[in-house]
Amino acid sequence: MPELPDVEVYRKEAEKCKNSGIERIVVNDARFVKNSEIELNKNFQGKHFKQIMRRGKYLFLSAEKGASIVLHFGMTGDLSYLKASEKELKYTQCCFMFKNKHNLHVISKRKLGYIEMTDDVEGYIKKKDLGTDALEMNRNDFVSVMKSKKSMIKTVLTDQSTISGIGNEYADEILYQAKVHPRESTERISEKEMNKIYDVMNEIFKTAIKKDADISKLPDGYLLPVREKGNNCPGCKGKLEITKISGRTTYYCPSCQKSPDK
Ligand SMILES: [Zn+2]
Repeated sequence: MPELPDVEVYRKEAEKCKNSGIERIVVNDARFVKNSEIELNKNFQGKHFKQIMRRGKYLFLSAEKGASIVLHFGMTGDLSYLKASEKELKYTQCCFMFKNKHNLHVISKRKLGYIEMTDDVEGYIKKKDLGTDALEMNRNDFVSVMKSKKSMIKTVLTDQSTISGIGNEYADEILYQAKVHPRESTERISEKEMNKIYDVMNEIFKTAIKKDADISKLPDGYLLPVREKGNNCPGCKGKLEITKISGRTTYYCPSCQKSPDK
């Protein structure tokens, strides 16, 4: 599932189409797009995307005078801005064609994401109950919002209404690097440890974005490149453990992240 770093990489890709005249929008799979092709063209043809904004895992492409495109990516989403002469992509579900002979392809192999139109980005964010973006949240707000939740830290970190952008996999990385057990209650986590979680979260996201959100390029010592059954902790070399938290598969190191029961 694309998380904050992936969608930030898509945002940078989408920036390339900013201010180019929109010639036409082609919908290849109507199940992926909540508005009709006719409706999209009526609202965006001849306009330009003036603002590209990310909030958590959502991307907003806003044209002048009102309408915006909302992009939400499923398991295998991607975004590519290519010359129109380049080969058609296999899994393009929707294509924005620009007058400068470039196309922005919204790619989704399993069609689990979606595209829709909104006239009110702020209202949309409110309706989806999206909290402050993880990279926008300041330290004091982070510590106080986390402490106020009184639940397992992994559940709180992945709750998009509390803080938006952290998904299942990066939550494991953050807690692994902060040496905090994913089941630990936020009430029991000290202020010092919360500050540590905040620092590693920022460091991990910035590093991942620099590496184009490619997990295989993350530095040695990161959990994500080895986050698979049977693998060892990059730190202590002990076996990683797998558990379910709020229904989501969770990896952690039982030696480096001590259990709240001990
Ligand atoms: Zn370990």
